[in-house]
Parts: sequence; C-alpha cells; structure tokens
Amino acid sequence: MNITAEQLIAGRGSRDGSRTFSATNPATATPFGPQFRDATAGEIDRALEAARAAFEEAPPSPPEQVALFLDRIAAEVTDLGDQLIDLAVAETGLGRDRLTAERGRTVGQLRMFAETTREGSWVDARIDTADPTRQLIPKPDVRRMLVAIGPVVVFGASNFPIAFSVAGGDTASALAAGNPVVFKAHPAHPNTSELIARAALRAAEAESMSPGIFSLLQGAGHEVGLELVRHPLTEAVAFTGSLRGGRALFDVAASRPRPIPLYAEMGSVNPVFLLPGALASRGETIAKGLVHSATLGVGQFCTNPGVVVGTEGPQLDQFVRVVADLVRQAAPGTMLYAGICQSFGHSIERLRSVPGIKVESHAPAGSAQKTQASPTFLSTDATTFLAHPDAREECFGPSTMLVRCGGAAELEAVARALDGQLTATVHGTPEDLAAHQPLLRILRRKAGRLLFNGFPTGVEVCSAMQHGGPYPATTDAHFTSVGSAAIYRFARPLCFQDFPQHSLPPELQDGNPRKIWRMVDNQRRND
Ligand code: NAP
Repeated sequence: MNITAEQLIAGRGSRDGSRTFSATNPATATPFGPQFRDATAGEIDRALEAARAAFEEAPPSPPEQVALFLDRIAAEVTDLGDQLIDLAVAETGLGRDRLTAERGRTVGQLRMFAETTREGSWVDARIDTADPTRQLIPKPDVRRMLVAIGPVVVFGASNFPIAFSVAGGDTASALAAGNPVVFKAHPAHPNTSELIARAALRAAEAESMSPGIFSLLQGAGHEVGLELVRHPLTEAVAFTGSLRGGRALFDVAASRPRPIPLYAEMGSVNPVFLLPGALASRGETIAKGLVHSATLGVGQFCTNPGVVVGTEGPQLDQFVRVVADLVRQAAPGTMLYAGICQSFGHSIERLRSVPGIKVESHAPAGSAQKTQASPTFLSTDATTFLAHPDAREECFGPSTMLVRCGGAAELEAVARALDGQLTATVHGTPEDLAAHQPLLRILRRKAGRLLFNGFPTGVEVCSAMQHGGPYPATTDAHFTSVGSAAIYRFARPLCFQDFPQHSLPPELQDGNPRKIWRMVDNQRRND
C-alpha cells in the first residue's frame, strides 16, 4: 500500500502544511520515505469539526456497531502483514519478533474493547425507582450511566509504534466508549502511523461509521500537539511520553478557558526491593531476571526497573558481581531515535557526575551511526540517593541503579523519598513480607501496581490491570491506560430524572433490553 504522507481528515487526504519532515532509520541513521508535513491550524480545525459532527449530528452508534468497527480494525491491522512490520522495524529499530508480538497485543486489545462494548455493563448503570408515596417528599425516578464525552485527542508514543499508537489502547478505549478520535502521530514513525490509520479508515467505511470518527494528523514540532490540546472542541487527551512533554501539555489543558482532562503516562523508575530472605535463596536468579528486564527492548519501557534497593552484606555483594558481569556481557542496542539515545547518554552522565554514584559496569560502547546505547549498571548508597533528587529521576534506556541500604529503616526512607510510580516490586519470602510490613505500607501509597517476586516489564492486557500511578507516573492515578478499565477515562456520568421510558437509553430502560449488569434499587442484577 502506498504512503501518501497526507493528513487523513475524516477519510480524505490533505497537504496544506509547508514545514516538512521524514522518517529516519535509527539503525543506519538514514532518512527515508516521503516528506510529511506539519498539520496546519486549518487542518486541525477540520479534523475536530468532523469529529464533532460524527459525535453530535447522528444518533450514537449502537454498541454492536462500535464493537464490529473495533473488530474490523483488528482484522485490517492483521491484514497489513509484513508491510507493517517492515516499516515499523525501519522506523524504530525494534526487532521483528518484538513488533510482531506488539501487533498481536494491539489486535487482542482491540478485540477486548469490542467485547467490553458488546457486553455493555461497563456503563455502570444505576437505577433508583420512584416512590411517589414517600413522606414527606416524594422520591423521583433517578437513573445514571456513563456516556461518551466527544472528540478525544490521542498522542502516539515513540516506544510502542503499534500498541500505544494509531490503533493502540488509547484509541481503542476512546472509540469503545463511543467517542471520535483525532490522532497525533509521533514524528519518529509517521509511515507506520499512516499505514495503520488507513486500516482504521477502511474499517470505518466497512462498518458505516461516520467519516469523522477517526482522523490522523502528522507533525514534527510541538505546535500541532499544543494546538490540538487548546482546541475548544477537544474534550479529553491521552498521552504517553516524557514528564516534560506530558506536564507541558497537561498545563495547557488545565489553563484553557474550559479545562479538560489530560491523561498522561510519564516517568517512573519502578523500584525493585530485594529483601534478605530472597537475596539469600535466589540472588543469582533475581540478578539474571533484573538484567533481562532492564535491557529488554533496549530499556525503552515505561516499566523499566531503573532502581534496585537492597540491604548491605555479602549476599548483596554477590548479587552486584553477577549483575555487573551480565551487564558487561550485554550488547549495545539501537534506540528509537537519535534524540532518545542522546537523552539516555545525558542521563547517564548526569548520574555519574553525582558524588557517591558510580558505574559498576557497562556493555561495550555503542555505535553513534547505529543510534546505539550501551547497557549500564550504576550503584550508590542510601544517603546519596536521598540527598540528590536527580538520582530518583527516570533514565529512559538500558540502565539500572542499585541503592545500598544499612537496614530496614533505610529501605523505608528510600521508599518514602520516591515519587509516584507505575510499579513497585518486592522480592522476598513470606517471612520477609511479615518482617517488612512498614515498607509495604509505604509502597502501597507510591505505586499503581505492586509485584511480588517478578519484574515490572511485560504489562498484561486484562480487566484487572492497573497501568497508572500517583504523579509523576501519571497525571491522574485514578485511571489506567492498559486493560479494559482504560475506557473510564473517556466517559462521564449522566443522570436522567423522571424521563419517560422510551426516551431513556436502552441501558436504563425497565426491561433491560441489553441484559447488562445494573444496580437497581441497591441490588446488583442483570434481568
Ligand atoms: P516526548 O518527548 O514526551 O514526546 C512525546 C510527544 O509529546 C511528542 O509528540 C511531542 O510533540 C510532545 N511534546 C514533547 N514535549 C513537548 C512540549 N514541551 N510541549 C508540547 N508538546 C511536547 O517523548 P518521546 O519522544 O517518546 O521520548 C522522549 C523521552 O520521553 C524519552 O527519552 C523518555 O524519557 C520519555 N518516554 C517515556 C515513556 C514512558 O512511558 N514513561 C515513553 C516514551 C518516552 P511533537 O512530536 O509535536 O514535538
């Protein structure tokens, strides 16, 4: 399929912009493919106007139609076959296996949201029937459910060109809730983005969705994204990326005349706590698992275990020797684009320059021509870690830093000093857990997901997943960006009081035609 490098606005191509950019293969530092353009203010306006029309000017698409649309996107993305994988490899430097798995995850995610929509109980319908005889004031008929909010702007993430991109989890959850999506492609993979956007548009046509249900906008400068967040028709935004970018966009969303929610998933160091019983019984296995997790995908996961915390002693020393050896033997890897690779280098330099932080080992130096980063293992002590906020910031790439503690009190002090996290992990025995209850209580406040004897990379897509955590891991810890609960970011409660049956949505009608689970007069039922 041809890539035309156009903005795709409600199914039509547009090429108004004058500022151009192209993709670069990070493995060879070679630009390739057509020249894309930054979307203009007029194009942004047209995309949001089409989204508004899709949302407002026709009755909402029935849930079954939305589900068929999502299933059809999954089929179209699968049908892209090797062209999708080839393009994504060339634009990101990620391996074929990884990208093939990522496509599988994306397709699975789309089907999961189709099922969520079809099953329908996610709308959390609540019905309190009237009691006109109640004394002293008659009770009204009150019915509440979650409804779609309108145009959602989604930013593509650099590190998941398929699963957190055009047809990824943010788009799928926004569409599943009944909203149109205007997608801002990440400038590091514009070709992959267009290919998937065309698949989504074919699916929209096949399922007779309104053309404005989906648009794709490209841009390599911040202005396109900022304009989308400022646009008066935008109702919510989803973002995955850096703390700096997420926070800048969040501040713009909050300072609009009419503020809107901006759900940003940002930085996290995902601490791993090594308790003494686990170190004694499984130190070497944990060391291997840690190095695998920290270097997987050249460390470019938001759940990368960036900080490891343990209590000093011979077992920790042995653990350090094993990790240091494994990192020394690791291979340098191509990062997503030159800017991310440079940021990684600067972050390592920043850490090394802190007195009290040292490099325990690193892999052979990478080639700049191949945009390569070298896996790095650092260490420090609790006093240095607590005194230097820099040491607690995300270093996006293949590195991890050990923090040596004198005992339980220092483990707790380190945990307390951490910012909000996507995840926190504890390696321990049942006895360790019993002996470290205060540490666990601190970690419960810090993270969105707690892991026991595992590693944080590899986020399962399922109903119970929580991929979000207290700031700065995300801008709103109440929500997740992975799993079926991600849909709740893009819906709001609407209450109907004393409406006649025929003008209520089916989900709130007495006969419960969709047979969803509802709370009726304080009882959970689906009849
Ligand atoms: P990024 O720099 O945050 O960029 C992501 C998007 O945000 C881009 O599309 C960019 O728009 C926009 N943006 C960034 N800064 C902005 C600003 N000040 N004002 C307005 N818009 C802004 O993320 P990235 O390119 O993916 O990677 C850079 C760094 O992000 C990495 O080194 C890493 O630290 C972090 N990162 C974190 C995660 C995570 O999950 N925690 C994932 C990926 C990356 P334009 O394209 O229009 O410029």
